[in-house]
Amino acid sequence: MKLILLGPPGAGKGTHSETIAQKLNIPTISTGSILRAAVKNGTPVGLQAKAYMDAGKLVPDEVIIGVVAERFQEPDCANGYILDGVPRTIPQAEALERAGINLDRVISIEISDDEIVERMAGRRVCASCGATYHVTNIPPKTAGICDKCGGVLEARADDEPEVVRTRLRVYHEETEPLKEFYSARGLLRSVQTQPTAEETFAEMIKALEIAP
Ligand code: ADP
Ligand code: ZN
Repeated sequence: MKLILLGPPGAGKGTHSETIAQKLNIPTISTGSILRAAVKNGTPVGLQAKAYMDAGKLVPDEVIIGVVAERFQEPDCANGYILDGVPRTIPQAEALERAGINLDRVISIEISDDEIVERMAGRRVCASCGATYHVTNIPPKTAGICDKCGGVLEARADDEPEVVRTRLRVYHEETEPLKEFYSARGLLRSVQTQPTAEETFAEMIKALEIAP
C-alpha cells in the first residue's frame, strides 16, 4: 500500500498517518520529521533546510527529492509506506512519478484556515521521538511528557501565528494544486475533518476502503 496524506499544516496528517501506519504495518515517511532531525543533528541537509523551515517556507525541491529517494532505499519500505508532508509541490509529485512510484490512494484532509490557526497554538511535539500532541485535543497522559518515550514535549517555533499564516499561504499556492493533479489520475479522496480525531480517522478508513 502506497499512500499520500495531503492537507494544510496542522490538519492532522502526522497523527493520522501514524495510526494508519500501525494498522497496515507500513512506515510513515514524514519529510517534516526527517528535516527536523537533520536540523537538530546539524547534517548538511539540516543546514540547508533550517532557514526555510524557520520562515515557514518550503525547502527546495531538489533537497526533498534527495531525502525521500534515500529513505525509499531502506528495507522497511518494501511493502509500502505513507507519505506525510510530501509531495508538497507539483515538481515533487512529478519526481515520484518519474521514479516509477505507483500510488494506491491520495487522501486530502479538508479543514478551514481559522481552525488551523487555533490548533497550531496548542500543538506540542516530542523533542526525542517526534510524536505530536495537542494540549486539549490529544493530550499526553502526563502534561509535557511523551507517552511513547518519556521525552519532553515542546511547541514548534514554526507554529507561531505569523509563521502559520505564511505556511497556510504556501499550502494554498504550492500544495493545493496537487489535488487536481491526483484527481486527474483517479487517486484522490477527500476527507472532511470531524469534531474528534477518532471520527476523522473513521472517515479516512472509509476512504481507504480498509477494515476498521
Ligand atoms: P506541517 O505539515 O505542519 O507544515 P511539516 O512537519 O510537514 O509541517 O513540515 C515543516 C517544514 O518542513 C515545512 O514548513 C517546510 O519548511 C519543510 N518541509 C517539510 N516537507 C517538505 C516538502 N515536501 N517540501 C518542502 N518543504 C518541506
Ligand atoms: Zn517521544
